[in-house]
Amino acid sequence: MSACLSCGACCASFRVSFYWAETTEVILEGVPQELTDAIAPFYNCMKGTNHKQPRCIALQGTVGETVSCSIYAQRSSTCREFDMLDEFGQINQACTQARAKYYLLPITQI
Ligand code: SF4
Ligand code: SF4
Repeated sequence: MSACLSCGACCASFRVSFYWAETTEVILEGVPQELTDAIAPFYNCMKGTNHKQPRCIALQGTVGETVSCSIYAQRSSTCREFDMLDEFGQINQACTQARAKYYLLPITQI
């Protein structure tokens, strides 16, 4: 089982922004537009993430226990590209940082 299913820290740590054209305003199967906020002329973010204490509106469950994404199949490229590993196959430091915020130990093995 993926460690992400009992984590969710990244969905409640950062502003999750992406190109506005990824939303249902342009793509039928895109990110539901009503769950996003416009933050710049061509950028939207997930509602709830443009805050000091972010938490994506689509995140269900309790961080560090059991979580799921209510729009998993329609999530943005930003969400799809965020992983426990970075582009070099190393542990993603942003993942470690997000987990630390919730007193979760770093991922050390995949
Ligand atoms: S912070 Fe890391 S382990 Fe937690 S859900 Fe995000 S990618 Fe998965
Ligand atoms: S859309 Fe889903 S995967 Fe993306 S930040 Fe929100 S809860 Fe996490």
